[in-house]
Amino acid sequence: MKVAENTVVVIDYTLTNNEGEVIDTSDGAGPLAYLQGFGNIIDGLEEALEGKKAGDKVKASIEPAKAYGERHDEMAQEVPKELFGGVENIELGMQFESETDDGPVMVTVVAITDDMVTVDGNHPLAGVHLNFDVTIREVREATAEELEHGHVHGDGGHHH
Ligand code: ZN
Repeated sequence: MKVAENTVVVIDYTLTNNEGEVIDTSDGAGPLAYLQGFGNIIDGLEEALEGKKAGDKVKASIEPAKAYGERHDEMAQEVPKELFGGVENIELGMQFESETDDGPVMVTVVAITDDMVTVDGNHPLAGVHLNFDVTIREVREATAEELEHGHVHGDGGHHH
């Protein structure tokens, strides 16, 4: 069976940036199971895996537009530290939900000075070119329940 819309795809993967640093891997965590055509994974990877079958090894080089989008520098802003009054120790990398005109956005602390904190609403992987090294373990038909939920059930997917 080939990877196509409405199939469940089980993959081992390693994700690196253009500097060769590993950003994410299924090594250790176990394989990932996703539903093709449902936006469970980034567009560029769905496109690269379409039509492939179990046992295939796929290398995909994905530009930001088909991954987590381009970086928008205006989404980073400096705010007074006192606005974080309820937080004991603000540290780099901390994430907060911030209310904006477009709804809640996750922001990440990227810089701290004595009285100011810079938070960035970009996805941490925005603007990053992603290189996937994928081995397809299994391709199977999704169950009616999985299609209804929009995600895979069982190993590598959702448990509920
Ligand atoms: Zn479900």
